[in-house]
Amino acid sequence: MSFCIDKSIALFQESKKYIPGGVNSPVRAFKSVGGTPIFMKSASGAYMYDEDGNSYIDLINSWGPMILGHVHPSVVQAIKKASSEALSLGTPTRLEKQMAKQVMGMCPNIDQLRLVSSGTEACMSAVRLARGYTQRAKIVKFEGCYHGHADAFLVKAGSGVSTLNIETVAGVTQSVASETFVVPFNDAQAIENLVQRCGEEIACIIVEPVAGNMGCIPPKKGFLEILRRLCDAYGIVLIFDEVMTGFRLSLGGAQELLGVYADLVTYGKVIGGGMPVGAWGGKREIMNCIAPEGKVYQAGTLSGNPIAVSAGLATLTTLAENPSLYQNMERHMKLLAFELQKIAKQANVPVHINQIGSMMSLHFTDKEVVNFSDAASCDEKLFSKYFHYMLSRGIYLPPSMYESWFISTAIAQKEIDMILETTQKFLANL
Ligand code: PLP
Repeated sequence: MSFCIDKSIALFQESKKYIPGGVNSPVRAFKSVGGTPIFMKSASGAYMYDEDGNSYIDLINSWGPMILGHVHPSVVQAIKKASSEALSLGTPTRLEKQMAKQVMGMCPNIDQLRLVSSGTEACMSAVRLARGYTQRAKIVKFEGCYHGHADAFLVKAGSGVSTLNIETVAGVTQSVASETFVVPFNDAQAIENLVQRCGEEIACIIVEPVAGNMGCIPPKKGFLEILRRLCDAYGIVLIFDEVMTGFRLSLGGAQELLGVYADLVTYGKVIGGGMPVGAWGGKREIMNCIAPEGKVYQAGTLSGNPIAVSAGLATLTTLAENPSLYQNMERHMKLLAFELQKIAKQANVPVHINQIGSMMSLHFTDKEVVNFSDAASCDEKLFSKYFHYMLSRGIYLPPSMYESWFISTAIAQKEIDMILETTQKFLANL
């Protein structure tokens, strides 16, 4: 079997001269799985194509945004139209109003929405807003959850921070870190104890309602409800970080799927349909504190960029007009998870799979995976072997055991079969 990545190897060597680590976001560097990152050239539907001419079934989908598959015609059309009208204006536009209205139609607890250009910006702005609104300083996050790279979140964060095994992020000062309390995900007793002790100091609890940055870990039954109850009792702002789950798990995101609603919600990824868009929104009373209405300052030169918003709007309207797309993705992902688990059992390899909607992760362990320490105790070496086996046979998994797999509406039975057959061969060869 030939798998030539010579062009990627050469490009990586060159890129390292000009770009730190050769990449513009750390997990892309394949540090935890080893080897050379693949330089992609183009993508279409469920596939990516690299510089050497290899094709890959895409199971990262740009880390979530490409829910309709790559170069979806309605998104491309919207971008073409918008770019022929204006690239950036720095004034309010009709499109931004349309986007806010569209999101409100999909997520009924969003009274107002502000657009930014990334998930990080959305989360850090939501936290500042919660602090301004409550006049409190402390925040609570959960171990292994990732809310972007703002200083306050880089305390026991998942995603790239875990992938690179960075215990303490250099550049985050002790004083900033000391304002962030960290609690194990899915540990109701721990959060209850913390809030009983320090509830009056806490501005917000921020959580990924379905964790996706330590692999995919759904909340235990009742966990989100407890957060809701504690926030109500202590006047704490509950923030759901739906950057990954928003418009992915259902039209109304994890909130709709799980039936628990936050005070503020952050979005990213799918809301931009592959272009840089983030957003956060929620209760009017809280959103009114943002400048220019209120004193919590937040701004952005390219916020609400017409091309990016057009791509996002085309994605959201396509999803809203075709709700069966969610059922199809769920059916494919359920089948994939079920069959992978079966194959692993037959091969006598301990595997635990978490799956919800179009997100899943495969953990090499004989235990349940419900929090970060469970995820971190899985067999990373075996995952790396699996990753490279699949990669060299045209299947692109996330290059870290701490990342979730995402599918798009473009995936079909043929691709599912290929993933299953290839995994079966890998496990049989161990
Ligand atoms: N929140 C979650 C849950 C994420 O998964 C991410 C990115 O992966 C972010 C926030 C940060 O988003 P961005 O990378 O767009 O800044």
